[in-house]
Amino acid sequence: MGDQMLLEVVLEGQWEALFPLTCSTPYQACHITMDTTEYKTCLTVFTLFGVLSICWCAPQRFCEPGGDNSGRCNNGPDEEKPAVCSEINLGYCNDLDYSRTIFPNILGQQSRHEVESGPEYLLLSVIHGLLNGECSPDIRLLGCSVLAPRCQELPSPAPVKSCRSACEAVRKGCGHAFEGIDMAWPYFLDCDRFFAGEQEGCHDPLAPLRARQEVVFSNLSPDEPSTIIQFTYHSNAQMYSVLKRTAAKCSHISRTYSIGRSTEGKDLLAIEFTDNPGGHELLEPEIKLVGNMHGNEVLGRQLLLYLAQYLCSVSPWQPAYQTLVNTTRIHILASMNPDGYELAAAEVEDSNDPEQQPHHNQEGHELNGWTVGRTNAQNLDLNRNFPDLTSILYRNRRIKRFRTDHIPIPDSYWFGKIASETYAVMKWIRSVPFVQSASLHGGELVISYPFDFSRHLHEERMFSPTPDEQAFKQLARTYADSHASMADNNTERCGASFIRSGGIINGALWYSFPGGMSDFNYLHTNCLEITVELGCDKFPSEEELYPEWLRNKEALLSFMESVHRGIKGVVKDEEGYGIKGASVSVRGIRKDVTTAEEGDYWRLMNSGTHIITASAKGYSKVSKRIYLPAHMEKAGRVNFVLKKVPVQPVGPDYHLFLRSSLDTYDRFDPYNHFQSYGRSEPGEPREPREPREPGMGGEPGMGGEWQEKEKPWWWNYFTQAGVSAPTWLLRN
Ligand SMILES: [Zn+2]
Repeated sequence: MGDQMLLEVVLEGQWEALFPLTCSTPYQACHITMDTTEYKTCLTVFTLFGVLSICWCAPQRFCEPGGDNSGRCNNGPDEEKPAVCSEINLGYCNDLDYSRTIFPNILGQQSRHEVESGPEYLLLSVIHGLLNGECSPDIRLLGCSVLAPRCQELPSPAPVKSCRSACEAVRKGCGHAFEGIDMAWPYFLDCDRFFAGEQEGCHDPLAPLRARQEVVFSNLSPDEPSTIIQFTYHSNAQMYSVLKRTAAKCSHISRTYSIGRSTEGKDLLAIEFTDNPGGHELLEPEIKLVGNMHGNEVLGRQLLLYLAQYLCSVSPWQPAYQTLVNTTRIHILASMNPDGYELAAAEVEDSNDPEQQPHHNQEGHELNGWTVGRTNAQNLDLNRNFPDLTSILYRNRRIKRFRTDHIPIPDSYWFGKIASETYAVMKWIRSVPFVQSASLHGGELVISYPFDFSRHLHEERMFSPTPDEQAFKQLARTYADSHASMADNNTERCGASFIRSGGIINGALWYSFPGGMSDFNYLHTNCLEITVELGCDKFPSEEELYPEWLRNKEALLSFMESVHRGIKGVVKDEEGYGIKGASVSVRGIRKDVTTAEEGDYWRLMNSGTHIITASAKGYSKVSKRIYLPAHMEKAGRVNFVLKKVPVQPVGPDYHLFLRSSLDTYDRFDPYNHFQSYGRSEPGEPREPREPREPGMGGEPGMGGEWQEKEKPWWWNYFTQAGVSAPTWLLRN
């Protein structure tokens, strides 16, 4: 035994000197079981034949990765070596809360070197990168506690297994992250096999981590909810994970769903909050918050992720829960442009890397991200990519019966370049009866509201109000006035001056552009959308994220609550059935809202006396005079019952205000076309794709079903490193 110990030391010195970089595996193979004679032979053989010869000298190992479903190697006959506690000395496990371990470890690995050269340890060393930082200290520490278990000295040196409860908690919280990269849960983190219960005296390897997180939490202000929101930037993978974890944690009031995919195939993942997630409820207004439409304008994306976690944390007796979650359906799309975000984030990272830019100044984050990543992967500015219905309105506005609502998408639009992100959002906007919306941007500190496109072609800055100017102004005021500094006269602006208007402005008066999302919302649906410019810095430094959340939190909550303003009700027939698609108009406002599936409608409007009229094809009109007091906690209820009448013959200009029944949307729906490709049988020759713009839903990866099953991208991490390939990481 003394000899062997000595040999180990000698071997380390010798072989590391000979193989400073490349030989850890054969070195380890040799050193584990060789006796002195073999060692001499080994050195001789090595000298003669070089690297490839080394393992000749090692006794045969029965090492079949995955063969016994444990991935562990069998080293043949056991050596009679009394176990002792020793220092851990594993670089990736040096932050465990104990310093001494014992071999063989829980997997039966006999030495530090065997651990270091195994795929299990390699996985722990790369897991942070593979999962984009998600769950990485947790999984690493958990894995380390299996590879290098705590050594208990008395009564005799023995390994202490880690707690099953800790393993199960990690598995629950992080299992989806592995699914996300198509990786199986590592066999050695099997909570049943390699972990122990509390009554067996297990060790909790994650206790110090939790203690650290609690310190972070206790530094937050006391009125913050009792959940750990990490005020850092989130990669796309981390964003998906935060959304899914939040929805899982709050499954009684939340769920995630996809509205489509980006040009590069990334999920456009939305999260909803309501008392009864998954569908519309009669008279419950729906709102949406959209962030990161411009990929380089990132603060809104972060704020929406914090908002989702905040909503998940409010308890049922808090006012925010009563007024929001119980009575509203809130949809959050934190990133409308994840492809652009990735570019912008990489740019900022480069500029912050001193090796990339030796003369970089400290404010690099302000100088960068200004334009890189603004557009989507096809270089389309998504806020110029929606159907330009505003021009159609302007062209027809002098026609008496032409109305400012539910203008169909013109055929010509479908022949242009349409981003898949734009398409997904259009489909979303059309399928949910949204009442109001906010699109979160950056680069200025102001709220702008429609129209964004000037009513005079050659006037770049011209006040161009919608018929709902008063409602829009109030909506914009709601956000600006609850924001810490937006309405503040002394705030230094980023270039423009909005002092006279108190931090809000008509979009076209600020600067005019066609094809914007807010104009489309207004002219194609019932939804009133404002644009929130959150600040001068489009990509603020990470330290700004928490202060920005505090500056915007009340504003976001007030904005959402303001959907319960104005009136709402149901338009029914005489038998009590709701009438879908009925119009509700307000005298003096040339824009109708239409009723949803069950005849319910919402109408944001200011206080005062109004005449409201409900009408539907085949029914008589009904008008009501209402008085809306200035301060109402809820929307006023105005219901209508319409009588059936014989249908009137259609007049010559009827088509001008015909509702969306003749809409081109369904005829041109590119997604429907795409789906028929996705369904072709495997093995069958695929039909050639119709020529269409890239990103129109024709990108590989969107359908997925017919893609070849290849090794996942992370497989290279393992095969190139020279370890036995961990087939146990492959799913199925
Ligand atoms: Zn923007």
